[in-house]
Amino acid sequence: MTKYYAEPFKIKMVEPIKILTKEERIEKIEEANYNVFALNSDDVYIDLLTDSGTGAMSANQWAGIMVGDEAYSGSRSYKNLMISAADVFGYKYYQPVHQGRAAEKVVMPIFLQEGKVAISNMHFDTTRAHVELAGARAIDCVIPEALDTVNFHPFKGNMDNARMKELIEENGSENVGMIIITVTNNSAGGQPVSMANIKETSEIAKSYGIPVCIDAARYAENSYFIKMREDGYADKSIKEIAQEMFSYADVFTMSAKKDAIINMGGLIGVKDDPELFETVKARTIPYEGFISYGGLSGRDIEAMAIGLQEGTSFDFLQYRIGQMEYLAGKLDEIGIAYQSPVGGHAVFLDAKKLLSHIPYHEFPAQALAIELYIEAGIRSCDIGSYMMGNDPDTGEQIESQFEFTRLAVPRRVYTQSHLDVIVEALKEIRDRKDQIKGYEIKWEPKVLRHFTAKLKPL
Ligand SMILES: *Cc1c(COP(=O)(O)O)cnc(C)c1O
Repeated sequence: MTKYYAEPFKIKMVEPIKILTKEERIEKIEEANYNVFALNSDDVYIDLLTDSGTGAMSANQWAGIMVGDEAYSGSRSYKNLMISAADVFGYKYYQPVHQGRAAEKVVMPIFLQEGKVAISNMHFDTTRAHVELAGARAIDCVIPEALDTVNFHPFKGNMDNARMKELIEENGSENVGMIIITVTNNSAGGQPVSMANIKETSEIAKSYGIPVCIDAARYAENSYFIKMREDGYADKSIKEIAQEMFSYADVFTMSAKKDAIINMGGLIGVKDDPELFETVKARTIPYEGFISYGGLSGRDIEAMAIGLQEGTSFDFLQYRIGQMEYLAGKLDEIGIAYQSPVGGHAVFLDAKKLLSHIPYHEFPAQALAIELYIEAGIRSCDIGSYMMGNDPDTGEQIESQFEFTRLAVPRRVYTQSHLDVIVEALKEIRDRKDQIKGYEIKWEPKVLRHFTAKLKPL
């Protein structure tokens, strides 16, 4: 039995959720053309589409919203953010922006242009987009262990440093504009990156004179994993670990919609280079607005300043990552496979194993997402062949390496009982899995089809 760490908070305000009948859900998903993105959130009971911007703010953060300073310049909330960020990351300069991809839009073109490459343990999709928009090429370089869903490795998000070195040599170090370390490694399943690995990546980059950027969306969850799994960190605080981690990079881009537990916001950090910071500020003003608000209201900045602190609380992280571990433990009991060990913000169900009778071109992970909705009103999403789409050259369906159905858990939103509902639903689905059929596409747009495509059951 996996332990559930009880919520380190009590509930002051509740948001009612509707529970439809199974018959109603069957109708709703048909009306949505079997695309979970087309469902109304009002028709969803447990929404696990994403953990981004969906967390519950604390009483303190809501109080911060009320005292936020909306001054155009020199705002008190901006000063509070500077103090809070320095306390967490240990850098000299910070620039708020409206979300993570805005930070990428400001920072990437400074380092990356036509002919350059960026090497990362794995680019998040918007990060890859901004590398490519800058004219550069994005190369992923995660350790091979990440691709094996059943083998235990404590840090499946690690950079393959030997391969990275080869890539630097192959491309010529002068053409590698940036090394990007994503913590946790979102695309590999929220998998952590070890301190030793970050340090080694940084040393290699430094020896070639290549700048290092941390894609910092889940800085606190990664620090927690280092504390729990890596030798020498058990007695260090989350903030001490975070500061050491960031000391190995020159700059960071961050979505504050994850570990800073706000609904909208982002941040750029520059370790100590005043010239680089001038460039960041100069690029922020036309895209995001004046430096002291960066695309956000003063109240959002105040909530971010508070959220950065709350996100690094050990008790919070133990409960938060404990939820994933609890869910994973229950799945072990009923024999349902997932990317193991479970990551920090989501459980990635292995639909290829559960629905092994459905081939990749009939989208097993999408079929499982639809069944979860029909069974219990749970909204998840496909991270597999359905999301991959067609080969742009041949027009043929790509076969994804994985067929994952992702259950991303919002912060401080759902309780143990909600997690039990998910497990019960999966048990029901497992028992009738042979009757579950695949899907075909009725209509699809040319790019990013998973958001708007229309499907039909086979
Ligand atoms: C969410 C995320 C981003 C993009 O941030 P947005 O706030 O959604 O724009 C970038 N990198 C990683 C690793 C993320 O998880």
